[in-house]
Amino acid sequence: MCKIRCQNEIGYAYCYRMKVPLGQKEGKEMEVLYNSTRSKGAAVTASQAILKGLSDDGGLFVPNHIPALDKSLKELSEMDYKQVAYEVMKLYLTDFTEEELKNCIARAYDEKFDTEVIAPLVEAEGAYYLELFHGSTIAFKDMALSILPHLMITSARKNQIKNEIVILTATSGDTGKAALAGFAGVEGTRIIVFYPKNGVSPIQEKQMVTQKGDNTLVVGIHGNFDDAQTGVKKIFSDKELAKEMEEKGFQFSSANSINIGRLVPQICYYVYAYAKLMNEGKLAEGETMNVVVPTGNFGNILAAFYAKNMGLPIGKLICASNDNKVLYDFFRTGTYDRNREFMLTTSPSMDILISSNLERLIYRIADNDADKNAELMGALTGAGKYEITADMKAQLNDFYGNFASEEETAAEIKRLYESCGYVLDTHTAVASSVYQKYVKETGDNAKTVIASTASPFKFTRSVMNAIDAKYDAMGDFELVDELSKLANVKVPNAIEEIRTAPVVHDVQCDVDKMQDTVRGFLGI
Ligand SMILES: *Cc1c(COP(=O)(O)O)cnc(C)c1O
Repeated sequence: MCKIRCQNEIGYAYCYRMKVPLGQKEGKEMEVLYNSTRSKGAAVTASQAILKGLSDDGGLFVPNHIPALDKSLKELSEMDYKQVAYEVMKLYLTDFTEEELKNCIARAYDEKFDTEVIAPLVEAEGAYYLELFHGSTIAFKDMALSILPHLMITSARKNQIKNEIVILTATSGDTGKAALAGFAGVEGTRIIVFYPKNGVSPIQEKQMVTQKGDNTLVVGIHGNFDDAQTGVKKIFSDKELAKEMEEKGFQFSSANSINIGRLVPQICYYVYAYAKLMNEGKLAEGETMNVVVPTGNFGNILAAFYAKNMGLPIGKLICASNDNKVLYDFFRTGTYDRNREFMLTTSPSMDILISSNLERLIYRIADNDADKNAELMGALTGAGKYEITADMKAQLNDFYGNFASEEETAAEIKRLYESCGYVLDTHTAVASSVYQKYVKETGDNAKTVIASTASPFKFTRSVMNAIDAKYDAMGDFELVDELSKLANVKVPNAIEEIRTAPVVHDVQCDVDKMQDTVRGFLGI
C-alpha cells in the first residue's frame, strides 16, 4: 500500500491507493459510486447514473470520491487520445469492463472526427487553443455526445433494461445537434430535442431541423433556453408520466450536460492536452497549466476542475462568461442571482442564467452536505438566488471569473485574426478576451490552454461581421466560403452537408405544451 497525496471529495486529505498486481481485478475500495446532490439516499453505480441522468430527487449524480490518476504524466504523455480517454474514464466508470469501455471509446472517437488527433492544440500568441470542434457537429459537445449513446446502451444491457430509452434534451444550440447526431438510428433509443425557436444561430437551427432518423424529433419552443431546460426537468420529475411510460415500455434519460456520462468524457481532453504539451516539450513534467473555459451550463469547466482534483497540475480555472455574467458575479460576491435580464448574444450556447452543473461544485464546497445544497437550490427555484457561506466561498480560490461584452468579443476575433490569421468562433473569443483580462490583472504567465468550443464556421455571420462589417450583406453560405478563404481552412463537412439538406422537422410549441408534444411523439 502506498500513501500518496491526493485531493479527494473530502478535501486535501491523504488517501491510500492500493497497488493492484497486474491482471488482478481491482478491489471494491476502488469502486466509484454516485450520490445525489440533494439527498442522502443509496448510491448508484456509474451505469445506473448514466441511465437515469438525473436523480429522482431532482439532484445531480456526483462521484463519492474523485479518483486520482493512476498513470504518471510521463506515461500519459506517450498515449494517443483514445488511450488517455480509457485511463481517465476507467477510474469513474468502475462497473464497466475494460472491453466494454474500450469498445465505447473506439466507436466514439473514429472517422466522425476530421483529425486522428481528435483534439488538436493550436498555438497563437503563446496560448494554446484546444480545438474541441473536430467532431460531426463542429462543437465541443461532440467530445461527449459521440460516446454517450454507447455508454448508455452498454449501461442498459448491464442493468437488464428492456424499455426503449427516450432521450429528452433542452439545447441552447449545440447540444441538440450533437445529441441528434449521436443517437439518430441507434436501436433501442429515441431522442427529442427542444430548442428556443428564436435563440439559436441560423446554422445551428438548420443543422437540427435537417436531422434524419425515424427516432428523432426536433421542437422549437416559444421561450428561451432556461424555459426549455426547466420544462425538460419538469417532464423528467413527473411521476405520473413516468408510470405511464413504464407501462408502455419507455423510460427517459438525459443527454444534457447534467448526465455523468457527459461529464466524465470531458475530463479526458484536459488530461490529454497536458500530456500532449508535455510530449511536445511545451510543459515540463508537473509544471502548472492554467485553463480558460467559455462557460454556460458549467459542465466543461467542472470537468477541468475534476481533472485538477485527480492530480493533473492545473493552476487557475478561468471561467469566462458573456453578457449573461451570473457566474462572474457569483465568483466575485458569493451570491448567485438569476434575477436579471436574459441577454441574447452572439455566443448563444453561453446564454444561460441557471448553470446546472454548478450544483455539483456547490455540493462539494458544502462538504458534500446534500441538505445544505438542497436548501440553496430550493432558494434558486424560489427566490431565484442564493448566497454561499464564507467557508464555502473560501474554497473557490482555484476559480477566477470574468466576462467579455459583445464589443470585446468581436474585437478579440478581429485582433487575433489580424495579429496571426487565426479565426476564433464567438464562444472561444469570449474565453480569449477574458484570458487577456486575467493576464493583465494578475501578471500570471503560466502556460494556458483555452478551450476552443466551436468552429468559426458554426457562427459564420457573427465571426465575419466582427472582422469587417462589409460582410453583413452576404448570404449565409456565401459567408462560409468567404471565411474558408480568409482563415485558409477547408469548409467542414458538417456545413457542406446542410447546404442542400431538406428541412424535416417543423414542430413548434409553447412552453406549457412540451409534455403534450412528448406524449404525441411516443403515442401515449
Ligand atoms: C455548450 C457550449 C458552451 C458552454 O459549455 P458548458 O459546458 O455548458 O459550460 C460553450 N461554447 C460552446 C460552443 C458550446 O456549445
